[in-house]
Amino acid sequence: MHDIRCFVPNCQANPYAPAGTQSVCKDHFLNFLTWRRRRGPQMFVKYAAMTMEERDAIAAEWAKTIRVDEVPSNSPKT
Ligand SMILES: [Zn+2]
Repeated sequence: MHDIRCFVPNCQANPYAPAGTQSVCKDHFLNFLTWRRRRGPQMFVKYAAMTMEERDAIAAEWAKTIRVDEVPSNSPKT
């Protein structure tokens, strides 16, 4: 049994779609699509023809561009 979730750091959402060998949640998947679209139609076509490992590199590049507006506290005080 796989215990996977969105590969974006600090995101606890359930996986929705693959990004390379990993999975991202719906929100981040849409964000990833938008990011690739901004890079032009060539990127879209290129990505579709890529192997999973090549997609990992693209996904990692994208992950660096994500702005984490709210960083959840590691130890919430209750
Ligand atoms: Zn996510």
